[in-house]
Amino acid sequence: MKNIKDYNLEELKKEFQELGEKPYRAEQVFMWLYREKVKDFDEMTNISKELRQKLQDNYSMCNFKIAKKLVSKDGTKKYLFDVLDGNMIETVLMEYHHGKTLCVSSQIGCKMGCKFCASTGIPFVRNLTSGEIVEQILAVEQEENTKISNVVFMGIGEPFDNFDNVINAIGILNNPKGLNIGARHISISTSGIVPKIYELADKKIQCTLSISLHATNDKKRSEMMPVNNAYPIEELMKACNYYIEKTNKRISFEYALAKDNNDNLEDAKELVKLLHGMLAHVNLIPINKIENGKFVKSTDKNIIRFRDYLNDHGIVATIRRELGSDIEAACGQLRRKTIEEKR
Ligand code: SAH
Repeated sequence: MKNIKDYNLEELKKEFQELGEKPYRAEQVFMWLYREKVKDFDEMTNISKELRQKLQDNYSMCNFKIAKKLVSKDGTKKYLFDVLDGNMIETVLMEYHHGKTLCVSSQIGCKMGCKFCASTGIPFVRNLTSGEIVEQILAVEQEENTKISNVVFMGIGEPFDNFDNVINAIGILNNPKGLNIGARHISISTSGIVPKIYELADKKIQCTLSISLHATNDKKRSEMMPVNNAYPIEELMKACNYYIEKTNKRISFEYALAKDNNDNLEDAKELVKLLHGMLAHVNLIPINKIENGKFVKSTDKNIIRFRDYLNDHGIVATIRRELGSDIEAACGQLRRKTIEEKR
């Protein structure tokens, strides 16, 4: 059955037209879904019984079930959602002083194979639909009785490998008649699928682009991230410059520091050269070691030295706070299989 949450408002109006219904009815239903967050068509009290029945017959509501919820000492919450077809996905809620950020998954599994990431090794199952992406925000808002202020596409999956559904989901999230999360409060993180960076730039959506860079030369980067063989650094940076030129928006570069791998001053120097003069920000992530992984976390001393070198040479760099590490909710730790085994 079709999931009613897969449609943005314009698409929903078209669906309603096909059902022989007026467009304003679609708007009412949209508001029931995303403002009132109802879980059943029968709760839509200003909609006639007949129409409610018609909706019931044609669409599902895709209300995820919470299979598991873990709460970290630092307040971070990790949800394991049952997406109703036997698969599970993970979503993480983090609290910052400026609001609540939800880290969402874009795929069930991931094809990218980054060597340091725990999602590697889980077989890729499928893309999430737009409605399943949006449902992660809805379900958490319902459960916590709260408003999510920021959404980051940094959970399981490569958002640019599921580009259309991710972009459509952003359109649904943005709508002021619904969840009303502005594009400026949404970040998409990519391992560097170059053609999609151009596509996003041309769409002129005001969301933040994060690039998982992690190394400054092709040899090192390809060792960490196989995607670099398809889209090497020079091509990646060209696309990034195009994006900045088109959107006038700053790019956030993610750099996970691994001991004796990419954390020495030579690397910092190369990074300064690479990003010199660019509208950029560097997010340093102390790497989280994964089971049997060869990359281990840098020392605090090296992390701080790396950050200071960048800052002293005109590149704005910050160290990302590690949240949720005790519940395996920190960067790169999301791993469906491990959780399933523990259930
Ligand atoms: N596929 C997308 C988004 C998911 S990962 C991407 O690659 O950007 C979100 C971020 O966490 C990425 O920057 C990723 O490189 C980083 N990450 C993955 N595993 C990590 C680990 N073990 N330690 C630190 N960061 C990690």
